Amino acid sequence: MQKVEHIGIAVKDLDLSVPLFEKILNTVCYKTECVSSENVNTAFFQTGSTKIELLESTTPDGVIAKFIEKRGEGIHHLAFEVADIHAEMERLQNEGFTLLNAAPKQGADNKLVCFLHPKGTNGVLIELCQEIR
Ligand code: ZN
Repeated sequence: MQKVEHIGIAVKDLDLSVPLFEKILNTVCYKTECVSSENVNTAFFQTGSTKIELLESTTPDGVIAKFIEKRGEGIHHLAFEVADIHAEMERLQNEGFTLLNAAPKQGADNKLVCFLHPKGTNGVLIELCQEIR
């Protein structure tokens, strides 16, 4: 794994949280993107070489809405950049980790992504991401 590419934060309302994080980080949101396959709207901030990704559910029963219902707003996942997502998925599967998707899927910000089940990772939802070139 390479660096922490981004930290995902679940929020109820991007219209409130984008200005809040612009204030906290003292930088403007450089991109918003809807990932319709995941039922989320996302907003990105660059902080050094790492990004902050805010996630808002677009449906009342989406994964982010359910997360907020259970645990409230807050840190949702850590995303690690990998050079070869297929190789990393195979390595982690061989180590006994459960992948939440069998094949990489298209994520926000021009990435192929795969998630590890948090039950096997001390409760931390981990995303692997590889830039699509
Ligand atoms: Zn993410």
